Amino acid sequence: MLTRLASTSHEELYRVEDHETGLRGFIALHSTRLGPAAGGLRMRVYDGDAAAIDDVLNLSRGMSYKNAAAGLPLGGGKAVIMGDPTKDKSPELLRAMGQAINALQGRYWTAEDMGMTPDDMAEIARETRFVAGLDHGQHASGDPSPITAKGVFNAMRAGAAEVFGSDDLRDRHVAVQGLGHVGWHLCRLLHEAGARLSVADMNADRATKAVREFGANVVTPDHVHATQADIFAPCAIGGILNARTIPEIHARLVVGAANNQLATPGDGDALQARGILYLPDYVANGGGIINVAAEILEITDSAPWVGERLAAMQATIAQILNRAKGEGISPALIADRMVEEQLLQVAV
Ligand code: NAD
Repeated sequence: MLTRLASTSHEELYRVEDHETGLRGFIALHSTRLGPAAGGLRMRVYDGDAAAIDDVLNLSRGMSYKNAAAGLPLGGGKAVIMGDPTKDKSPELLRAMGQAINALQGRYWTAEDMGMTPDDMAEIARETRFVAGLDHGQHASGDPSPITAKGVFNAMRAGAAEVFGSDDLRDRHVAVQGLGHVGWHLCRLLHEAGARLSVADMNADRATKAVREFGANVVTPDHVHATQADIFAPCAIGGILNARTIPEIHARLVVGAANNQLATPGDGDALQARGILYLPDYVANGGGIINVAAEILEITDSAPWVGERLAAMQATIAQILNRAKGEGISPALIADRMVEEQLLQVAV
């Protein structure tokens, strides 16, 4: 079922195949230097094997950076299943994936990602104990989104202190892209803090609900990045910070939950050149993996443990901002360097 493939950039890469259930996918372990590789399982249609391999390699590398930045004793890994989750998913296919994950003997821990639900994780858990993001069980961590939103909110306050001289978000105008699991919780926190909200979502009902609940102003998804706001919070899709959008951004601070916000690494420099402070996504959105880590590490009293790690995340953000200012380079580059230094320190 598992075939090892060669990789020069990652510790382990596997093709996963099970003819009986139609399972086709890949598992990548980028690094286990800090601990077992942890990262979600994604199911989506890919344009062939090469695209799926590219995705699993990029995503697993990203998890090494995110876990290290969150101060967790976890490495980076990821798994993908090729197929349409609305048509091709079956309990048998998920259990076959569970067997493949189990064969890695705990070097890789999985959890939910795009196309997966807590019920799917429960199915996988019938075959392996190396799965988190469950709704039930002794250490179950449930939905990570409220903690992710809290981390983004805290990061936003730190960014506001840097850019506007105060971490008070009262009367600050924040443009939020995406009112899903995280975006909605973030809007609630911002509303409670007295911020003014402009919101955009492809789902018009969510935007209408935000008008009712938070007095938000609705903007179009295509132009939300260009809102005349103080802060832009991408909480929907990746690649939103790119050559087209960056020149149009009005906000002086960008911080949100979406993964892979920069279309290219150079876009971090483009934001810096325009005097826009961008807090690296994988640092600001680390609350979710902190919550999942409590389950992987079997933390009994998880709330204070999660709280301590969120506080540590704030300290890391302060350090990133200080170094970025001192060295005159973008926080995105500094965050990458800090993680790489950390990974080198533990290298044998
Ligand atoms: P979600 O699927 O619940 O919500 C995404 C929302 O964005 C949906 O309401 C969708 O309609 C909307 N959307 C999609 N494309 C859009 C566009 N172009 N413009 C405006 N709105 C658009 O996802 P989520 O769990 O809230 O996660 C949001 C982002 O944060 C994702 O990039 C995710 O990978 C990342 N993230 C989430 C967590 C978590 O705890 N859920 C943790 C870390 C990172």
